[in-house]
Amino acid sequence: MREAANETVPEGGRIAVLSEVVRNQIAAGEVIERPASVVRELLDNAIDAGASRIQVDLEEGGMRMVRVTDDGLGMIPEDLGLAFEAHATSKLRTPEDLDHIASLGFRGEALASMASVARCSIRSRPRGADVGAEITEEGGRRGKITPAGMPEGTIVEVRDLFFNTPARRRFLKREQTELSRCTEIVQRVALAHPADETGQGGIGFVVMHGGRRVFDVEPGMDLLARIRRVFGDELASELEPVEASMGSTRITGYVAPPRFGRRDARRQMWFLNGRPMKDKVLTRVLKDAYRGVLIDGLQPVGFLQLWMDPESVDVNVHPAKSEVRLRDERSLFGFLVNALKEAVMRTNMATPGESMIDRLRRREGRPMQRETLPDPGPRSAGAAGAWIPRPEGSSGAGSGAVGEGYIVREVPPREGAPSGAFGAPGSPAEGPAFEGALGSDGAPADQWATVDDLRGPYIQVDRTYILRAVPDGFEIIDQHALHERLTFEELRREVKAGKVEVQRLLTPELVDLTQADVQLITVHQDALRRIGLELEPFGDKTVAVHGLPARIRRPDPEAIVRDVVDVIARTGKAPDAEDVQEEVLHRTSCRSSIMAGDTLDESSIRALLERARDAGMDQTCPHARPTRVKFTLADLEKAFHRT
Ligand code: ADP
Ligand code: MG
Repeated sequence: MREAANETVPEGGRIAVLSEVVRNQIAAGEVIERPASVVRELLDNAIDAGASRIQVDLEEGGMRMVRVTDDGLGMIPEDLGLAFEAHATSKLRTPEDLDHIASLGFRGEALASMASVARCSIRSRPRGADVGAEITEEGGRRGKITPAGMPEGTIVEVRDLFFNTPARRRFLKREQTELSRCTEIVQRVALAHPADETGQGGIGFVVMHGGRRVFDVEPGMDLLARIRRVFGDELASELEPVEASMGSTRITGYVAPPRFGRRDARRQMWFLNGRPMKDKVLTRVLKDAYRGVLIDGLQPVGFLQLWMDPESVDVNVHPAKSEVRLRDERSLFGFLVNALKEAVMRTNMATPGESMIDRLRRREGRPMQRETLPDPGPRSAGAAGAWIPRPEGSSGAGSGAVGEGYIVREVPPREGAPSGAFGAPGSPAEGPAFEGALGSDGAPADQWATVDDLRGPYIQVDRTYILRAVPDGFEIIDQHALHERLTFEELRREVKAGKVEVQRLLTPELVDLTQADVQLITVHQDALRRIGLELEPFGDKTVAVHGLPARIRRPDPEAIVRDVVDVIARTGKAPDAEDVQEEVLHRTSCRSSIMAGDTLDESSIRALLERARDAGMDQTCPHARPTRVKFTLADLEKAFHRT
């Protein structure tokens, strides 16, 4: 409302205190955005009331109605009379209470807000009472308290959301969209309240839409069972548990292998003392834990429960309450990143052949209908238990099929190739002579099923991929990706130990940059030297590259310098910062490894695989492309419809 320049102050002044309804509507603007916010607030209240079973009934995506029924503590009629009152709460009495809030609510705003923008009713029967009572409030108009017959617990009903604020109603989406937001909230909350190891303490949830059951979990289901119910078995069966504590702070939960990463963060959940939480610090913690194994731009998948003293957490930041402020962030941060990183590294990072087969099928656009295929018959005798043909005597009749039929190219020893093309300096690789046929070393059949000695034969396909039998199937290795990963790991280890081996260039390589970029390099010259990059300004628009880490094979100095500038400029941090350093090392190792296209001989391959095994972190390259894809017997059986 703009006032005209010539207007005068009216008698009685211009300022008036807003009516309570309007105040509550304004507050509602912050707390209640859509049916899903109603669902969340009502769930919070039911949980604060100690409910163990909660049912959510929805109509028209919650826009027509949200009703939450709980078996919690209940309210006596006197409390009912205050429930719709703004700033009326049972969860907070004194300012000191704000320092150790253990409940989900505490502002006493939610019900008042809802009642100002919808038609609401609360029915409640306290535990142990003979009858219940009901109160209604519609758009701020309160009704009388009347007796109501009902089971113990509370039923809150919110109808016709925004019936009196059409502008807000227009922001609502289609029924299906609002419904899925509501179910998502319930699922999130359900994940936040699993049963413990003994099957106790969990809350059961049921969601009905238009009388149809759309989601449920039983109180006795633990976190993993709930994740399985919400996200399916494929994810649940690959999750890696996390468990660590520091003082009174504890983290539990699960992280997924990096390949489950998604563009959105919807499968990234933090629960702080049982409260679903979106917090920038926690998001960063998870990102850090996946650094180096997750492709840029993807969000990791994890379900993490953080347990802390309520005193060390400030929840009074935003009315929507999904943000908190953690005290003592720094030590907490390190503890969490380490705990998570350990678990992430334990996840199964190989891309399973199974999911690859599925993807290929989908891409081909002709899903195979198993039912229509003829029965392939029982597996041939002798192959039971292992797909790899067993050596028979020393001739290996079965292995002939692999040795002759499938080998694309047997790798000849590379002429003049240094035997340690991949061996660590000073430890020339020694591979056994290429023996031609699988199992011809006469290993007993059983040994094949359990021991992976990294031995060949190897098959190099297109000078890019290496095929190799493993005890329970076979794997395909991307030689470039694997080498990249190794270079990175080894380089990082050298940097950590403070002794990077540097290869000095005979004639320095000159790289032209902008003046600002040259300055950037100059400022960080010492830090860069510590990671093996010896760079000197040469005039004001050129940098001279004098030395590079010796680990790096066939370095491209210009690309490396540009990468460094890029990373420093983008992050605005010194190359000493751990994340910057890691990224520089990633990029540098990518600029230097063997490329796809190198012919490798037997001993080089073996040396590469041994280095990978010794490094213990050989599953994905720094940018998280998989380094190997494994096909297990189960994958093959699935592919050939033998299951
Ligand atoms: P807050 O949860 O922040 O206290 P609300 O407006 O959500 O504010 O609720 C006001 C009060 O009503 C709560 O403090 C609580 O005492 C009571 N209440 C609300 N819902 C329930 C419920 N489902 N069972 C028992 N008491 C409830
Ligand atoms: Mg509340």
